[in-house]
Amino acid sequence: MDQRAGIGGSCLCGSVGFALRGPLRDVVICHCHWCRKSSGHAFASGAVADQGLDLYRPGALAWYRSSPGVRRGFCADCGSSLFWLGAEGQVRFAPGALDAPAPLRLQGQSFEDSAGDYYTLSGRPPRVEAAPARLDCSCLCGETGFSVPGPAREISACHCRGCRKSSGHYGASFAVDAVQWHGRATVAEFVPGGTGHEAATRGFCRICGSSLYHRDPDGTVHVEAGAVDGPTGGWLAQHLCVAQKGLYYALTDDLPQREGRA
Ligand SMILES: [Zn+2]
Ligand SMILES: [Zn+2]
Ligand SMILES: [Zn+2]
Repeated sequence: MDQRAGIGGSCLCGSVGFALRGPLRDVVICHCHWCRKSSGHAFASGAVADQGLDLYRPGALAWYRSSPGVRRGFCADCGSSLFWLGAEGQVRFAPGALDAPAPLRLQGQSFEDSAGDYYTLSGRPPRVEAAPARLDCSCLCGETGFSVPGPAREISACHCRGCRKSSGHYGASFAVDAVQWHGRATVAEFVPGGTGHEAATRGFCRICGSSLYHRDPDGTVHVEAGAVDGPTGGWLAQHLCVAQKGLYYALTDDLPQREGRA
């Protein structure tokens, strides 16, 4: 396997490999509309100077310009969120992509007012203010669209390697019985190896890289909560796979935590 000096990172399928060198800026979690759609929940990023990124295996790395001056880097083969480029001479990287623990801590949050209705930054349970009977969902670029029955009700955070690499932070999703598609021409799927949830098929938009859903081997479809356009009518109810959780964040709410999925 490729081994480079520095802190290594990769996408879920392994197509993209990179190493970070030099001082790292601590992690900021962003709750803006674009970061939520792109990651499927909330987007976390650390930062390194431009010259500190060694992209030794660009693989299927693709870029999507989400707003003027901003480009988001993702793997077009598996949908993993990897990078965020602004204008400030540094590269922001998704800590979920890192392959080993890095000396990173949580520094802060941004665009807190845009957070989803299903979580609060304080960890207090959110006030559920809506119970929409139908949830319209879409990706960041708008090429994909689907609707599912609502409200979302219980939403599970998953800290497994697959959900962390896909979102760049950790996942938050809810199970649905039926999906009605309005646009799926740009939806791509990646099927990792393994068993159980580890082998879940990852559905994403191949134009913008937005995480849309995953489908466990038993056929259950879980919609990534950030894909929902409006209120979900749901609430974060539990943390799954905490044995694989990243070290740069703490779980400060009182929700049940499970080592695995069951
Ligand atoms: Zn990949
Ligand atoms: Zn898209
Ligand atoms: Zn997971």
